[in-house]
Amino acid sequence: MDKNVMELSVVVPIYNESENLAVLHRRLTEAVSALTDRYELIFVNDGSRDDSFPRLCMLAAADPHTVYVNFSRNFGHQIAVTAGLDYARGQAVVIIDGDLQDPPELIPELYRKYQEGYEVVYAQRAKRKGESWFKKVTAKWFYRILRKITNIDMPVDTGDFRLIDRKVVDCLKRMPEKNKFLRGQIAWIGFRQTAVLFERQERLHGKTGYPFSKMLKFALDGITGFSDKPLAWVTKTGFCISALSFGIIVYALCAHFIFRQTVSGWTSIVVSSMFLGGIQLFSIGIIGEYVNRINKNVLNRPLYIVESTNGTETAGF
Ligand code: UDP
Ligand code: MG
Repeated sequence: MDKNVMELSVVVPIYNESENLAVLHRRLTEAVSALTDRYELIFVNDGSRDDSFPRLCMLAAADPHTVYVNFSRNFGHQIAVTAGLDYARGQAVVIIDGDLQDPPELIPELYRKYQEGYEVVYAQRAKRKGESWFKKVTAKWFYRILRKITNIDMPVDTGDFRLIDRKVVDCLKRMPEKNKFLRGQIAWIGFRQTAVLFERQERLHGKTGYPFSKMLKFALDGITGFSDKPLAWVTKTGFCISALSFGIIVYALCAHFIFRQTVSGWTSIVVSSMFLGGIQLFSIGIIGEYVNRINKNVLNRPLYIVESTNGTETAGF
């Protein structure tokens, strides 16, 4: 192989991980340098509010393998990973979280599977430690429901921690959607995929950058990006409710003209109008989520703005 070819890139999104950076850098370097000396560690600083960025600059100054990409503000985890992929030059690219929940020591195992010929080697959680029951339960059900309502074979219990081949990175770059859901996109792309099991650790320091609002947006991106079933549900519910209302109208007319007993009382009216109002709002909400995503894609803004970097973009959107 050509001596100048970069063999392995590691992409790490960083949002307020200042206390984790030194350990992270050391453990990544140990794990990756054992595999090859043509590697790079790409840290994407996603608008951290702590001193992650100055610390990254220090690491980059001392280590020629370290690349930093500094965003102008917080753009979100999926966008940070996307930027990392745009800057990655490696033939194989590992995506890993920056809080050490994903152990860097698993990378050699992912790399071995890659050398066996797999284009996607994802790390599957056998166990997850130190996360709230709420997160575990919602995540568990979300991925199972998502699998049911989308037509693609999305593996359960996997995050973005995985190794992907250059071919897959190039395919991802040809998918210009603005609402990224990388694990779904990678499943959609296909190729030979396999899993390596691991135990997910607690985050070393700091707290999660994924509050409920971000989790919800992420979940909606997954659903709207890969399924149009919710729109079909809206249509079907509308149809059923119309049929039901038609029945009620017939009943009301018969009651009035044939049996001469006009239905009295407001309870039924209130209940049915509340019910209908609720269904209508919910349906408009679902449609709105899709329209909003169409709008974002029509606006066609850049996905992220880079303030400074010591790397070079390898081509992208
Ligand atoms: N992250 C990011 N931007 C954000 C939120 C998180 O780049 O807006 C990074 C974060 O630094 C970490 C990874 O994404 O490396 C996963 O985030 P986190 O650990 O907070 O999520 P959790 O593991 O709790 O789901
Ligand atoms: Mg985490």
